[in-house]
Amino acid sequence: MIIGSEEWCALPALGIPAIKVRVDSGARTSALHAFNIKSFKRGDSLWVGFEVHPLQHNRRTIVRCEAPVIDRRLVKSSSGVAEKRYVIRTALQHDGQSWDIELTLTNRDSMGYRMLLGREAMVGRVLVDPAAAFLGGEIAHEQLQSHYLDHTRERSGLQIGLLASNPDLPSNRRLMEAGEERGHHMHFYDIKQCYMKLDAETPEVHYRGGLILNSLDAVIPRVRPDLTFYGCALVRQFESIGIFSLNSAESIGSSRDKVYALQVLLRHGLSIPVSGFADSPIETGELIDMVNGAPLVVKLLEGPQGRGVVLAETRKAGESLINAFKSLQANLLVQEYIQEAEGRHMRLIVVDGKVVAAMQRQSSPGDFRSSAQRSVTASAVKLAAAEKRLAVKAARVLGLKVAGVDVIRSRRGPLLLEVNSSPGLEDIEEVTGKDVAGAMISAIERQLGWKRPLAQPLAAEPDA
Ligand code: ADP
Ligand code: MG
Repeated sequence: MIIGSEEWCALPALGIPAIKVRVDSGARTSALHAFNIKSFKRGDSLWVGFEVHPLQHNRRTIVRCEAPVIDRRLVKSSSGVAEKRYVIRTALQHDGQSWDIELTLTNRDSMGYRMLLGREAMVGRVLVDPAAAFLGGEIAHEQLQSHYLDHTRERSGLQIGLLASNPDLPSNRRLMEAGEERGHHMHFYDIKQCYMKLDAETPEVHYRGGLILNSLDAVIPRVRPDLTFYGCALVRQFESIGIFSLNSAESIGSSRDKVYALQVLLRHGLSIPVSGFADSPIETGELIDMVNGAPLVVKLLEGPQGRGVVLAETRKAGESLINAFKSLQANLLVQEYIQEAEGRHMRLIVVDGKVVAAMQRQSSPGDFRSSAQRSVTASAVKLAAAEKRLAVKAARVLGLKVAGVDVIRSRRGPLLLEVNSSPGLEDIEEVTGKDVAGAMISAIERQLGWKRPLAQPLAAEPDA
Protein backbone atom coordinates (compact mmCIF):
# COMPACT_ATOMS: atom_id res chain seq x y z
CA MET A 1 0.00 0.00 0.00
CA ILE A 2 1.30 3.47 -0.80
CA ILE A 3 0.34 6.32 1.49
CA GLY A 4 1.02 10.04 1.41
CA SER A 5 2.27 12.40 4.08
CA GLU A 6 -1.25 12.89 5.47
CA GLU A 7 -4.06 10.36 5.42
CA TRP A 8 -7.48 9.79 6.87
CA CYS A 9 -7.60 6.70 9.06
CA ALA A 10 -9.99 5.15 11.57
CA LEU A 11 -9.47 3.58 14.98
CA PRO A 12 -12.71 1.60 15.22
CA ALA A 13 -11.96 -0.12 18.54
CA LEU A 14 -11.56 3.31 20.15
CA GLY A 15 -14.75 4.63 18.57
CA ILE A 16 -12.87 6.99 16.24
CA PRO A 17 -14.35 6.69 12.73
CA ALA A 18 -12.05 9.28 11.15
CA ILE A 19 -8.83 10.97 12.17
CA LYS A 20 -6.33 12.83 10.04
CA VAL A 21 -2.96 11.18 10.49
CA ARG A 22 0.42 12.72 9.86
CA VAL A 23 2.76 10.11 8.46
CA ASP A 24 6.04 10.57 10.31
CA SER A 25 8.61 8.01 9.26
CA GLY A 26 11.14 9.93 11.37
CA ALA A 27 9.40 8.66 14.49
CA ARG A 28 9.60 5.07 15.64
CA THR A 29 6.28 4.82 17.48
CA SER A 30 2.89 6.20 16.59
CA ALA A 31 1.29 8.73 18.90
CA LEU A 32 -2.25 9.81 19.62
CA HIS A 33 -2.93 13.25 21.03
CA ALA A 34 -5.04 12.54 24.12
CA PHE A 35 -5.97 14.35 27.29
CA ASN A 36 -7.46 13.54 30.68
CA ILE A 37 -5.34 10.41 30.54
CA LYS A 38 -5.98 8.29 33.64
CA SER A 39 -5.12 4.68 34.33
CA PHE A 40 -7.41 2.32 36.24
CA LYS A 41 -7.68 -1.35 37.19
CA ARG A 42 -10.15 -3.60 35.43
CA GLY A 43 -10.02 -7.11 36.88
CA ASP A 44 -6.33 -7.84 37.10
CA SER A 45 -5.20 -5.72 34.24
CA LEU A 46 -4.25 -2.08 33.92
CA TRP A 47 -6.39 0.04 31.61
CA VAL A 48 -6.21 3.62 30.56
CA GLY A 49 -9.07 6.03 29.94
CA PHE A 50 -8.54 9.15 27.87
CA GLU A 51 -10.24 11.66 25.66
CA VAL A 52 -9.43 12.61 22.11
CA HIS A 53 -10.29 15.62 20.00
CA PRO A 54 -10.28 13.70 16.73
CA LEU A 55 -10.59 16.79 14.54
CA GLN A 56 -7.88 19.39 14.13
CA HIS A 57 -8.58 22.84 15.51
CA ASN A 58 -11.78 21.61 17.10
CA ARG A 59 -12.02 21.16 20.83
CA ARG A 60 -15.78 20.71 20.91
CA THR A 61 -15.74 17.24 19.48
CA ILE A 62 -14.61 14.83 22.14
CA VAL A 63 -14.43 11.04 22.02
CA ARG A 64 -13.92 9.14 25.26
CA CYS A 65 -11.79 6.02 24.88
CA GLU A 66 -10.60 3.11 26.99
CA ALA A 67 -7.96 0.49 26.25
CA PRO A 68 -5.76 -1.98 28.08
CA VAL A 69 -2.26 -0.68 28.80
CA ILE A 70 0.37 -2.86 27.20
CA ASP A 71 3.39 -0.84 28.31
CA ARG A 72 4.70 2.41 29.72
CA ARG A 73 7.57 3.76 27.75
CA LEU A 74 9.94 6.71 27.63
CA VAL A 75 9.39 8.37 24.28
CA LYS A 76 11.41 11.24 22.88
CA SER A 77 9.25 13.82 21.17
CA SER A 78 10.35 15.70 18.06
CA SER A 79 11.64 18.46 20.35
CA GLY A 80 13.96 15.93 21.97
CA VAL A 81 12.12 15.84 25.28
CA ALA A 82 11.62 12.39 26.80
CA GLU A 83 8.19 11.73 28.21
CA LYS A 84 6.80 8.63 29.91
CA ARG A 85 3.75 7.52 27.96
CA TYR A 86 1.13 4.82 28.12
CA VAL A 87 1.19 2.42 25.19
CA ILE A 88 -1.95 0.74 23.87
CA ARG A 89 -2.57 -1.62 20.97
CA THR A 90 -5.47 -1.00 18.65
CA ALA A 91 -6.63 -1.65 15.10
CA LEU A 92 -5.85 0.94 12.47
CA GLN A 93 -8.08 1.09 9.42
CA HIS A 94 -6.97 2.68 6.21
CA ASP A 95 -8.02 2.29 2.61
CA GLY A 96 -9.92 -0.95 3.13
CA GLN A 97 -7.23 -2.61 5.22
CA SER A 98 -6.95 -3.06 8.94
CA TRP A 99 -3.99 -3.97 11.14
CA ASP A 100 -2.98 -3.69 14.77
CA ILE A 101 -0.59 -0.93 15.75
CA GLU A 102 0.93 0.31 18.98
CA LEU A 103 -0.01 3.83 19.97
CA THR A 104 1.52 5.99 22.66
CA LEU A 105 -0.74 8.51 24.35
CA THR A 106 0.53 12.02 24.73
CA ASN A 107 -1.02 15.31 25.65
CA ARG A 108 1.65 17.20 23.73
CA ASP A 109 0.50 18.78 20.57
CA SER A 110 1.76 16.52 17.79
CA MET A 111 2.78 19.14 15.23
CA GLY A 112 -0.83 20.26 15.06
CA TYR A 113 -2.04 16.77 14.15
CA ARG A 114 -4.08 14.55 16.44
CA MET A 115 -2.17 11.47 15.43
CA LEU A 116 1.29 10.61 14.11
CA LEU A 117 1.96 7.37 12.29
CA GLY A 118 5.48 6.12 13.03
CA ARG A 119 7.74 3.55 11.36
CA GLU A 120 6.78 0.56 13.48
CA ALA A 121 3.19 0.75 12.36
CA MET A 122 4.20 0.85 8.68
CA VAL A 123 7.04 -1.67 8.47
CA GLY A 124 6.40 -4.43 5.96
CA ARG A 125 3.10 -3.09 4.64
CA VAL A 126 3.34 0.54 3.65
CA LEU A 127 5.44 2.67 1.32
CA VAL A 128 5.38 6.42 1.82
CA ASP A 129 5.19 8.93 -1.00
CA PRO A 130 6.06 12.15 0.80
CA ALA A 131 4.83 14.26 -2.09
CA ALA A 132 1.33 12.79 -1.98
CA ALA A 133 -1.53 13.21 0.49
CA PHE A 134 -4.88 11.51 1.08
CA LEU A 135 -4.22 8.64 -1.30
CA GLY A 136 -6.83 6.70 0.69
CA GLY A 137 -9.39 9.37 -0.14
CA GLU A 138 -10.60 12.67 1.27
CA ILE A 139 -13.45 12.98 3.74
CA ALA A 140 -15.95 15.76 3.23
CA HIS A 141 -16.69 18.16 6.04
CA GLU A 142 -20.36 17.06 6.19
CA GLN A 143 -19.33 13.45 6.47
CA LEU A 144 -17.05 14.25 9.42
CA GLN A 145 -19.86 16.15 11.07
CA SER A 146 -22.24 13.24 10.79
CA HIS A 147 -19.55 10.85 12.05
CA TYR A 148 -19.13 12.88 15.20
CA LEU A 149 -22.65 14.19 15.69
CA ASP A 150 -23.06 12.53 19.08
CA HIS A 151 -19.69 13.68 20.29
CA THR A 152 -20.01 17.36 19.61
CA ARG A 153 -20.87 19.81 22.32
CA GLU A 154 -23.42 22.42 21.42
CA ARG A 155 -21.91 25.17 19.34
CA SER A 156 -22.02 28.43 21.14
CA GLY A 157 -19.38 31.04 21.78
CA LEU A 158 -15.82 30.11 22.57
CA GLN A 159 -14.40 30.15 26.07
CA ILE A 160 -11.57 32.66 25.86
CA GLY A 161 -9.24 33.58 28.70
CA LEU A 162 -7.46 36.93 28.76
CA LEU A 163 -4.18 36.46 30.61
CA ALA A 164 -3.08 39.87 31.79
CA SER A 165 -2.49 41.93 34.90
CA ASN A 166 -4.91 44.82 34.99
CA PRO A 167 -8.55 44.37 33.96
CA ASP A 168 -9.06 48.14 33.85
CA LEU A 169 -6.39 48.78 31.27
CA PRO A 170 -8.15 50.13 28.16
CA SER A 171 -6.55 47.51 25.89
CA ASN A 172 -7.76 44.69 28.13
CA ARG A 173 -11.25 46.18 28.37
CA ARG A 174 -11.41 46.39 24.60
CA LEU A 175 -10.46 42.74 24.20
CA MET A 176 -13.10 41.60 26.71
CA GLU A 177 -15.66 43.75 24.94
CA ALA A 178 -14.69 42.61 21.43
CA GLY A 179 -14.94 38.96 22.45
CA GLU A 180 -18.31 39.39 24.10
CA GLU A 181 -19.64 41.34 21.13
CA ARG A 182 -18.90 38.31 19.02
CA GLY A 183 -20.76 35.98 21.32
CA HIS A 184 -17.84 34.46 23.21
CA HIS A 185 -17.43 33.88 26.90
CA MET A 186 -14.59 36.09 28.03
CA HIS A 187 -12.73 35.44 31.27
CA PHE A 188 -10.12 37.74 32.74
CA TYR A 189 -7.30 36.01 34.56
CA ASP A 190 -4.61 37.78 36.50
CA ILE A 191 -1.38 36.07 35.45
CA LYS A 192 0.08 36.25 38.95
CA GLN A 193 -2.94 34.46 40.42
CA CYS A 194 -2.65 31.48 38.11
CA TYR A 195 -0.69 28.46 39.19
CA MET A 196 -0.10 25.18 37.50
CA LYS A 197 0.41 21.49 37.96
CA LEU A 198 3.36 20.22 36.00
CA ASP A 199 2.43 16.65 35.36
CA ALA A 200 2.86 14.44 32.33
CA GLU A 201 -0.60 12.92 32.39
CA THR A 202 -2.79 15.56 33.96
CA PRO A 203 -1.29 19.00 33.46
CA GLU A 204 -3.54 21.65 34.94
CA VAL A 205 -3.84 25.38 35.43
CA HIS A 206 -5.52 26.65 38.58
CA TYR A 207 -6.78 30.07 39.46
CA ARG A 208 -7.00 31.69 42.88
CA GLY A 209 -9.27 29.42 44.90
CA GLY A 210 -8.43 26.42 42.75
CA LEU A 211 -10.75 26.73 39.78
CA ILE A 212 -9.25 24.62 37.02
CA LEU A 213 -8.79 26.37 33.71
CA ASN A 214 -8.48 23.34 31.46
CA SER A 215 -11.82 23.96 29.78
CA LEU A 216 -10.85 27.09 27.87
CA ASP A 217 -10.74 27.05 24.07
CA ALA A 218 -8.11 29.74 23.73
CA VAL A 219 -6.11 32.29 25.66
CA ILE A 220 -4.93 35.77 24.75
CA PRO A 221 -1.68 36.50 26.54
CA ARG A 222 -0.89 40.09 27.46
CA VAL A 223 2.26 39.59 29.47
CA ARG A 224 3.73 42.62 31.23
CA PRO A 225 7.49 42.93 30.61
CA ASP A 226 8.36 42.32 34.27
CA LEU A 227 6.28 39.11 34.22
CA THR A 228 7.84 37.67 31.08
CA PHE A 229 9.33 34.64 32.79
CA TYR A 230 6.23 33.57 34.69
CA GLY A 231 3.85 34.62 31.94
CA CYS A 232 5.67 32.53 29.34
CA ALA A 233 5.65 29.50 31.66
CA LEU A 234 1.91 29.92 32.09
CA VAL A 235 1.26 30.26 28.37
CA ARG A 236 3.43 27.20 27.72
CA GLN A 237 1.34 25.28 30.21
CA PHE A 238 -1.86 26.16 28.36
CA GLU A 239 -0.21 25.10 25.13
CA SER A 240 0.80 21.77 26.60
CA ILE A 241 -2.82 21.11 27.54
CA GLY A 242 -3.70 21.83 23.93
CA ILE A 243 -5.31 25.21 24.53
CA PHE A 244 -4.54 27.63 21.74
CA SER A 245 -2.66 30.76 22.69
CA LEU A 246 -2.96 33.70 20.32
CA ASN A 247 0.76 34.36 20.75
CA SER A 248 2.84 31.34 21.66
CA ALA A 249 5.08 31.32 24.70
CA GLU A 250 8.05 30.86 22.44
CA SER A 251 7.22 33.88 20.31
CA ILE A 252 6.65 36.10 23.36
CA GLY A 253 9.96 34.96 24.82
CA SER A 254 11.86 35.62 21.60
CA SER A 255 10.44 39.07 21.08
CA ARG A 256 11.19 40.04 24.69
CA ASP A 257 14.85 39.26 24.24
CA LYS A 258 15.63 42.37 22.18
CA VAL A 259 19.01 41.31 20.86
CA TYR A 260 17.83 37.82 20.03
CA ALA A 261 14.83 39.30 18.21
CA LEU A 262 17.11 41.58 16.16
CA GLN A 263 19.30 38.59 15.30
CA VAL A 264 16.26 36.62 14.11
CA LEU A 265 15.12 39.55 11.97
CA LEU A 266 18.57 39.90 10.42
CA ARG A 267 18.84 36.17 9.77
CA HIS A 268 15.68 36.46 7.69
CA GLY A 269 17.05 39.32 5.68
CA LEU A 270 15.07 42.11 7.36
CA SER A 271 16.71 45.47 7.89
CA ILE A 272 17.41 47.19 11.19
CA PRO A 273 19.53 50.26 11.99
CA VAL A 274 23.22 49.37 12.12
CA SER A 275 23.72 48.14 15.67
CA GLY A 276 26.52 47.16 18.00
CA PHE A 277 26.17 45.07 21.13
CA ALA A 278 28.71 44.70 23.87
CA ASP A 279 29.38 43.62 27.38
CA SER A 280 31.88 45.61 29.39
CA PRO A 281 34.80 46.03 29.20
CA ILE A 282 34.78 47.24 25.61
CA GLU A 283 36.68 49.49 23.31
CA THR A 284 34.33 52.41 23.37
CA GLY A 285 35.83 54.04 20.29
CA GLU A 286 35.52 50.91 18.20
CA LEU A 287 31.92 50.41 19.23
CA ILE A 288 31.14 53.95 18.11
CA ASP A 289 32.94 53.40 14.79
CA MET A 290 30.94 50.24 14.29
CA VAL A 291 27.75 52.26 13.97
CA ASN A 292 29.47 54.95 11.88
CA GLY A 293 30.13 57.44 14.66
CA ALA A 294 27.93 60.13 16.18
CA PRO A 295 25.11 60.93 16.42
CA LEU A 296 24.17 57.56 17.85
CA VAL A 297 21.57 55.98 20.06
CA VAL A 298 22.45 54.00 23.16
CA LYS A 299 19.88 51.56 24.50
CA LEU A 300 20.05 50.03 27.92
CA LEU A 301 18.56 46.56 27.74
CA GLU A 302 18.08 45.83 31.40
CA GLY A 303 16.47 47.66 34.24
CA PRO A 304 13.26 47.25 36.17
CA GLN A 305 11.09 49.59 34.11
CA GLY A 306 11.82 49.02 30.44
CA ARG A 307 15.06 50.41 29.16
CA GLY A 308 16.68 53.73 28.68
CA VAL A 309 17.04 54.96 25.14
CA VAL A 310 19.41 57.90 24.89
CA LEU A 311 20.67 59.97 21.98
CA ALA A 312 24.31 61.02 21.91
CA GLU A 313 24.72 63.86 19.46
CA THR A 314 28.50 63.96 19.53
CA ARG A 315 31.22 61.37 19.72
CA LYS A 316 32.31 62.75 23.10
CA ALA A 317 28.79 62.46 24.50
CA GLY A 318 28.59 58.93 23.12
CA GLU A 319 31.81 57.96 24.84
CA SER A 320 30.76 59.26 28.22
CA LEU A 321 27.31 57.67 27.90
CA ILE A 322 28.78 54.30 27.05
CA ASN A 323 31.33 54.58 29.85
CA ALA A 324 28.61 55.48 32.31
CA PHE A 325 26.51 52.48 31.31
CA LYS A 326 29.63 50.33 31.45
CA SER A 327 30.18 51.24 35.06
CA LEU A 328 26.62 50.07 35.73
CA GLN A 329 27.65 46.69 34.29
CA ALA A 330 24.83 46.97 31.79
CA ASN A 331 24.52 45.31 28.42
CA LEU A 332 24.73 47.98 25.77
CA LEU A 333 23.02 48.22 22.44
CA VAL A 334 24.45 51.01 20.32
CA GLN A 335 22.64 52.04 17.19
CA GLU A 336 23.08 54.36 14.26
CA TYR A 337 20.75 57.32 14.72
CA ILE A 338 18.16 57.64 11.96
CA GLN A 339 18.18 61.42 11.91
CA GLU A 340 16.14 61.76 8.72
CA ALA A 341 13.14 60.21 10.49
CA GLU A 342 12.88 63.52 12.36
CA GLY A 343 11.53 61.93 15.51
CA ARG A 344 8.87 59.91 13.73
CA HIS A 345 8.26 56.21 13.52
CA MET A 346 5.40 54.02 12.43
CA ARG A 347 3.54 51.52 14.55
CA LEU A 348 1.91 48.74 12.54
CA ILE A 349 -0.35 46.16 14.10
CA VAL A 350 -0.05 42.78 12.43
CA VAL A 351 -2.72 40.19 13.16
CA ASP A 352 -2.54 36.78 11.58
CA GLY A 353 -0.24 37.87 8.76
CA LYS A 354 -2.05 41.10 7.86
CA VAL A 355 -1.49 44.73 8.76
CA VAL A 356 -4.80 45.66 10.40
CA ALA A 357 -3.93 49.19 11.51
CA ALA A 358 -1.06 51.62 11.31
CA MET A 359 -0.24 54.98 12.75
CA GLN A 360 2.62 57.40 12.83
CA ARG A 361 4.06 58.68 16.03
CA GLN A 362 5.84 62.01 16.25
CA SER A 363 7.97 62.84 19.25
CA SER A 364 7.53 66.10 21.05
CA PRO A 365 9.96 68.93 20.31
CA GLY A 366 13.27 68.38 22.07
CA ASP A 367 12.91 64.62 22.24
CA PHE A 368 13.86 62.18 19.50
CA ARG A 369 11.84 59.30 20.92
CA SER A 370 8.40 58.75 19.49
CA SER A 371 7.55 55.74 21.64
CA ALA A 372 4.42 55.60 23.76
CA GLN A 373 4.52 58.65 25.96
CA ARG A 374 1.91 61.20 26.70
CA SER A 375 3.58 63.97 24.75
CA VAL A 376 3.74 61.95 21.54
CA THR A 377 1.29 62.81 18.81
CA ALA A 378 -0.15 59.98 16.79
CA SER A 379 -1.83 60.19 13.42
CA ALA A 380 -3.06 57.88 10.71
CA VAL A 381 -0.51 57.14 8.03
CA LYS A 382 -0.46 55.81 4.51
CA LEU A 383 1.99 52.97 4.18
CA ALA A 384 4.09 51.79 1.30
CA ALA A 385 3.66 48.15 0.33
CA ALA A 386 7.29 47.48 1.28
CA GLU A 387 6.63 48.77 4.80
CA LYS A 388 3.65 46.47 5.23
CA ARG A 389 5.61 43.52 3.92
CA LEU A 390 8.45 44.27 6.32
CA ALA A 391 6.12 44.30 9.32
CA VAL A 392 4.25 41.17 8.27
CA LYS A 393 7.48 39.30 7.75
CA ALA A 394 8.92 40.51 11.07
CA ALA A 395 5.87 39.16 12.91
CA ARG A 396 6.09 35.92 11.00
CA VAL A 397 9.76 35.17 11.60
CA LEU A 398 9.29 35.81 15.31
CA GLY A 399 6.23 33.52 15.28
CA LEU A 400 3.86 36.24 16.52
CA LYS A 401 0.19 36.04 15.48
CA VAL A 402 -0.28 39.48 17.00
CA ALA A 403 2.47 42.05 16.92
CA GLY A 404 3.03 45.77 17.21
CA VAL A 405 5.85 46.42 14.80
CA ASP A 406 7.79 49.66 14.97
CA VAL A 407 9.23 50.78 11.66
CA ILE A 408 11.36 53.85 11.06
CA ARG A 409 11.77 55.48 7.65
CA SER A 410 15.41 55.87 6.78
CA ARG A 411 17.20 57.10 3.69
CA ARG A 412 17.87 53.51 2.68
CA GLY A 413 14.27 52.40 3.20
CA PRO A 414 12.15 51.23 6.11
CA LEU A 415 13.99 49.70 9.08
CA LEU A 416 12.65 47.68 11.98
CA LEU A 417 13.06 49.19 15.42
CA GLU A 418 11.31 46.61 17.56
CA VAL A 419 8.51 44.08 17.64
CA ASN A 420 6.09 44.04 20.55
CA SER A 421 4.03 40.99 21.51
CA SER A 422 1.36 42.89 23.50
CA PRO A 423 0.80 46.11 21.59
CA GLY A 424 -1.44 48.74 23.14
CA LEU A 425 -4.80 49.05 21.41
CA GLU A 426 -6.19 52.29 22.71
CA ASP A 427 -4.22 54.87 20.71
CA ILE A 428 -4.16 52.97 17.49
CA GLU A 429 -7.89 52.20 17.52
CA GLU A 430 -8.61 55.81 18.29
CA VAL A 431 -6.35 57.22 15.60
CA THR A 432 -7.31 54.77 12.86
CA GLY A 433 -10.87 53.88 13.80
CA LYS A 434 -9.98 50.23 13.20
CA ASP A 435 -11.31 47.40 15.34
CA VAL A 436 -7.96 45.86 16.26
CA ALA A 437 -9.35 43.96 19.25
CA GLY A 438 -12.01 42.47 16.97
CA ALA A 439 -9.34 41.40 14.50
CA MET A 440 -7.57 39.56 17.33
CA ILE A 441 -10.76 37.72 18.29
CA SER A 442 -11.38 36.84 14.64
CA ALA A 443 -7.89 35.35 14.44
CA ILE A 444 -8.84 32.98 17.28
CA GLU A 445 -12.11 32.08 15.54
CA ARG A 446 -10.25 31.25 12.35
CA GLN A 447 -7.65 29.19 14.15
CA LEU A 448 -10.31 27.13 15.93
CA GLY A 449 -12.56 26.89 12.90
CA TRP A 450 -15.37 28.60 14.78
CA LYS A 451 -18.20 30.00 12.67
CA ARG A 452 -20.59 32.61 13.88
CA PRO A 453 -24.10 31.17 14.10
CA LEU A 454 -26.40 32.81 11.57
CA ALA A 455 -28.02 35.88 13.04
CA GLN A 456 -31.68 35.67 14.01
CA PRO A 457 -33.87 37.76 11.70
CA LEU A 458 -34.58 41.09 13.33
CA ALA A 459 -38.11 41.60 14.63
CA ALA A 460 -39.92 44.03 12.39
CA GLU A 461 -39.70 47.51 13.80
CA PRO A 462 -42.94 49.41 14.16
CA ASP A 463 -43.15 52.38 11.82
CA ALA A 464 -42.17 55.58 13.56
P1 ADP B 1 11.35 51.53 23.77
O1 ADP B 1 10.14 51.66 22.93
O2 ADP B 1 11.39 50.25 24.51
O3 ADP B 1 11.61 52.69 24.67
P2 ADP B 1 12.80 51.74 21.24
O4 ADP B 1 13.98 50.96 20.78
O5 ADP B 1 11.50 51.49 20.54
O6 ADP B 1 12.64 51.46 22.82
O7 ADP B 1 13.15 53.26 21.15
C1 ADP B 1 12.29 54.29 21.62
C2 ADP B 1 12.09 55.37 20.57
O8 ADP B 1 13.32 56.01 20.26
C3 ADP B 1 11.57 54.84 19.26
O9 ADP B 1 10.18 54.76 19.27
C4 ADP B 1 12.10 55.86 18.25
O10 ADP B 1 11.24 56.98 18.19
C5 ADP B 1 13.41 56.29 18.87
N1 ADP B 1 14.52 55.53 18.31
C6 ADP B 1 14.94 54.32 18.74
N2 ADP B 1 15.99 53.90 18.01
C7 ADP B 1 16.26 54.86 17.10
C8 ADP B 1 17.24 55.01 16.07
N3 ADP B 1 18.16 54.09 15.83
N4 ADP B 1 17.19 56.14 15.34
C9 ADP B 1 16.26 57.09 15.57
N5 ADP B 1 15.34 57.01 16.52
C10 ADP B 1 15.32 55.91 17.30
MG1 MG C 1 9.33 51.28 21.07
